[in-house]
Amino acid sequence: MARYGPFVVCASLALFLRPLTLTAEPPAKDADAAFRNSLAVQSAMDQARGWLFQKGDAQKAVEILEANLARINGNTAYLQLLRDAYRAYLAQLAHRQQTALFDKYRERLAILDPDAARMLTLQPVSQTAAGDTKPPGRPELATKPVDKAKIPGLALLQQLTPPKLSLPGSKAAPTIRAKLDDDDPFGLANKRLPKTDDRQQRARGLLAQADAEFGQRHYGQARVLYEQAHKTEPGVVGASIPRWAYCKLSNVVDQLNQPKQGNSSLSDLECEIQVALSMAPSLATEGKKLLREIDDRRRTGGQSSPAALRADFSVKHVGRVQGWQLAETPHFRIFHHQSAEFAEKAARIAEQTRLDMYRKWFGNDGPEWTPKCDLYLHANGQEYTRATGVPSQSPGHSRFDSENSGRVIGRRMDLHCDVPTMLDAVLPHETTHVVLAGQFGRHQVPRWADEGMAVLTEPREKIDQHRRNMARSHQEGQLFNVRELMHLQDYPQARRVPVFYAQSVVLVDFLTSLRGPRVFADFLRDGLNGGYEQALAKHYGIRDFNDLQARWNRQVLAEINRFSPGVAGR
Ligand SMILES: [Zn+2]
Repeated sequence: MARYGPFVVCASLALFLRPLTLTAEPPAKDADAAFRNSLAVQSAMDQARGWLFQKGDAQKAVEILEANLARINGNTAYLQLLRDAYRAYLAQLAHRQQTALFDKYRERLAILDPDAARMLTLQPVSQTAAGDTKPPGRPELATKPVDKAKIPGLALLQQLTPPKLSLPGSKAAPTIRAKLDDDDPFGLANKRLPKTDDRQQRARGLLAQADAEFGQRHYGQARVLYEQAHKTEPGVVGASIPRWAYCKLSNVVDQLNQPKQGNSSLSDLECEIQVALSMAPSLATEGKKLLREIDDRRRTGGQSSPAALRADFSVKHVGRVQGWQLAETPHFRIFHHQSAEFAEKAARIAEQTRLDMYRKWFGNDGPEWTPKCDLYLHANGQEYTRATGVPSQSPGHSRFDSENSGRVIGRRMDLHCDVPTMLDAVLPHETTHVVLAGQFGRHQVPRWADEGMAVLTEPREKIDQHRRNMARSHQEGQLFNVRELMHLQDYPQARRVPVFYAQSVVLVDFLTSLRGPRVFADFLRDGLNGGYEQALAKHYGIRDFNDLQARWNRQVLAEINRFSPGVAGR
């Protein structure tokens, strides 16, 4: 049975084999460019204020502010506004009992205002509002009306109106100094002044301690002190913002290097990096490296022990065979006309992807491949077409031969080297297809799952592109319904291929996010054997396709609209 994957998009693989270190030097104290506001930032703030304060649409404000985070260069007023927008949005979400979104944005608020979020964590809305029937960590929407007074988040958010930010040079808030000649030490007006002074003094003291710890390279302590200083007096950190950002990245590195990845989820860490980058764009190189590492961990199912993940193998350069140079590894025979170095690079990516995918989806290192997978690296598109008959617009494809039992008796990938993303993208994508073939007995991997799982090896930009495609198709009313998508026997007609890919990736990602990759693979196997609806109920507590469609509409489509070109413009 030949299977082709002619609509391959892209994928990437960045191997990570050593414990992480931050290689950039800590920024010097005077290296701040922290308060430069571009026109775009000002405009985003104006728009966000309009949505937040005049139209009362906190969600829009959050979207606009998040979309421009990368530009803000440590702008504290911006972060303050974002915090206000988060709080207002959280209040609205609590009011509407949208607990999944509530939890998500509470996590984001935690980055800007850990105390507020920590207080919220004590009594998550998801548990109280839903009658505490769900296991923690995976809140579902409440299904019955609840007494608003019982939503702790709402009450808390109402108390949490932040103090107004006073920027240098702006008109100071009026201070009540009535009856200063009245020396009553307990008078309200007289109490306030020393309180403000105390606070500023305390904030400056904390900042000085933070800077001192930073100088000693005690980044953990410094980070906590910067946070405390900022909470005590917003804006006080000022010129030390790049150093605070550095401490945040250092914390992410510490978390990633923990055997069990600390207590933070990858999404938390991702947010922490984004915030750090918005505070100190000079740390972009380090930040992007960490974001790539998080992508890798996500791709490999959250494995956090890089050394244990390393595919251990050697490459044997056999020499010339049937007009090709042949290089062999434990699972691949690589036919090429390239340098030995290039062939080894391809070998490493293929072997590593193979191992990563078996571990991620099936929790094992996979069986021996007998025979090995043949990997043909054609010099260019012309030679690829001449050898395979597949048009050169396809960047590559894979094919398998199976017995009726499902046992794979032939594996082959054909790629061409003039595709710029061949090593990063096409090779991991196709290798994933090869791993999946034969994993579901006599059943072929359904197209939606096969492509969705393969595309998830791709870099974040590519996956975001699919989400944008999906948002556009959603607006145009072109989406498949979920039942239809899951029952497609083959690729749809050409004009619907982009939306097919986009929805497949998002659906696999959605289901995987519920219970992890291995449960998803079990669900798929049971679904192929006994029907998807039964398998949905068994593995996800989702009653049937209608229930799945309803959740999809509620959770996925709401989220995907963030990628709508009209909203985020990214
Ligand atoms: Zn594919």
